Amino acid sequence: MVSLVRLAPGEGEDGVTTRPPGLGVPGGDDLAELLEPVLRTFTARRPGEETASIVRAAEMAAAAHEGQFRQSGEPYITHPMAVAGIVTDLGLDAPTVAAALLHDAVEDTQVDLEGIDRALGPVVASVVDGVTKLDRLQFDSKEEQQAATIRKMLVAMASDWRVLLIKLADRLHNMKTLSALPTPKQKRIAEETMEIYAPLAYRLGMQRLSGELEDLAFPYLYPTEYKWIINSLKYHYDERVKYLSRVKPMVEKALDEADIKPLLIDFRAKRYSSLYKKLLKYDMDISKIYGLVAFRIIVDTVEECYATLGIIHKLWPPLPGRIKDYIAMPKPNGYRSLHT
Ligand code: MN
Repeated sequence: MVSLVRLAPGEGEDGVTTRPPGLGVPGGDDLAELLEPVLRTFTARRPGEETASIVRAAEMAAAAHEGQFRQSGEPYITHPMAVAGIVTDLGLDAPTVAAALLHDAVEDTQVDLEGIDRALGPVVASVVDGVTKLDRLQFDSKEEQQAATIRKMLVAMASDWRVLLIKLADRLHNMKTLSALPTPKQKRIAEETMEIYAPLAYRLGMQRLSGELEDLAFPYLYPTEYKWIINSLKYHYDERVKYLSRVKPMVEKALDEADIKPLLIDFRAKRYSSLYKKLLKYDMDISKIYGLVAFRIIVDTVEECYATLGIIHKLWPPLPGRIKDYIAMPKPNGYRSLHT
């Protein structure tokens, strides 16, 4: 079922509540303090670009959300500020950051699109309008087929890709603060995240964001399995990422000594949600799971590829039966590489 509805404040995923005004409402110094990290990252990512519109949008959003609070008890402005922080981290431009700051203003406050247009121009207004329209979309996806249709609809409705990015950043922050919402709502939002937004982020090429969304949804959807995985794993996600950062220079050094100049070395630690999917295939036997950490090394030639494998095996002896030569035997889609 898909329908367009007008949500009352507090009905949507944002969990807004209203309390008597005058309770810890940021403005002036408080606002400057909240905005400072966003501006710092923005200037680092996009040196020399104007920030006046971001400051103006922040002031407008803070005034509009005055007296509103998150379910967690924090002043509401902390949410659009966090969403602005996420899109800033993604390296997006000032109009997008400004729109992120105002993304809930039209739906939940007295601010309207004409006001945003007057203060910040038609681009910001149209992006905010796009996010507002997506927020009014309510769906209930019980089937995979339905989820695919909804994802296509979201893409079609968001005339501007910036709208989708703000919506995904909005969802990411709402997932991070999901524990403050009542349980039935947690479940519905986590389900939607897993079926709609995480795959959407993946298809848009944002694998890290997608993985983060899935991992945030996972404990709400499979609490028992989540606890079991956490207790069964010797090394948790963050520790595995740290381990990989320590190992990377070792790989670089060994390749350098062999005079191999890799085009790219990157790594990933397997996330809990994807580990769970894999465990289902292996009768929940965690000892059968490989690839909790992974390195990818891209080199120029086939010769260097085999040479690199040799260097890696000198550092870490291979597991019998776990080496795959997709260069000699490419996958049907043409994929060629060596796995160990
Ligand atoms: Mn929001």
